[in-house]
Amino acid sequence: MVAEWELEEVDVFVNRVANSQVKHFYPTAAAKYTGLPLHLVFERLLKLVDSKKLVLKWEIRCPSYGCGRTVDTTDKLADKVGEELQCVCGEDIEVITDIIFPVFELNPEYKEHIKKKGSSRTLVLREKRITSPGTPVSLSSKELVSQDSKALLEKHAPPQIINHITVHGDFRGNIQGEIEMTDNRRNMSGNNFGGANFSGNVNFQGDDVRQTQTVHKSPIDDAFLAFIEEIKKMPDSQEKKDALSDVEAMQEAVKNGNLDRAKRIYGLLSNAVRDTAAGMTIAKLLGFIAGA
Ligand SMILES: [Zn+2]
Repeated sequence: MVAEWELEEVDVFVNRVANSQVKHFYPTAAAKYTGLPLHLVFERLLKLVDSKKLVLKWEIRCPSYGCGRTVDTTDKLADKVGEELQCVCGEDIEVITDIIFPVFELNPEYKEHIKKKGSSRTLVLREKRITSPGTPVSLSSKELVSQDSKALLEKHAPPQIINHITVHGDFRGNIQGEIEMTDNRRNMSGNNFGGANFSGNVNFQGDDVRQTQTVHKSPIDDAFLAFIEEIKKMPDSQEKKDALSDVEAMQEAVKNGNLDRAKRIYGLLSNAVRDTAAGMTIAKLLGFIAGA
């Protein structure tokens, strides 16, 4: 049994976030900080949304294997359900619980309030500084949503989504499996997902596979890296300089989901640059030419 005063550690976490560089966080960050079960932490966070300390938003992430991009972030989930979304990787996206990730931000006014109050507590803050937003966890996670949270969520998500949420403790599968999942997750939470030294192992977390993908470089990022390396091999010239800045602008456009702009920039590249192996790979990945 978790006592009320233990749950207040979640509030402490939120105040620390207000004094940190972290702009948004996932419920996992609060669970890691407090050591409390994720579903209780999530419930508490939803109550802090009610009391206007936090703002709840939703990330819609691409379900395509190896992609995992955030396709949209919204505070009006109902508007997105039933809408046709497309990821820059080409995947058509249906908005279901699997790909909806709750993310919290400080209400700017509350953040200001805490920051003003916080200056005298600098010593304490240094002990347990928050530097990472945590790992995204989707609405389909069996660890996330308690019965009470589900009721709280009705204000924030439409019934089509709410009806598909499995509540923590509502064990449908074998219990051993659930326990293993929990243990795995706890182990994973010790890792710093913000760091780059984590790659390849996509099998450790069952249905959370995509979440780990999102913090790695995607195939498109890798392809851009390879493309830039390829161009750097060219003899120094104005063309090389232009190509490098064009490719950077193209990568930026892709990051911002502006595929049309990326395509226009691609069209400006010289044939010699476009026809490199890396150039062809990018064009295929982005769907500019057939064969991906
Ligand atoms: Zn995608």
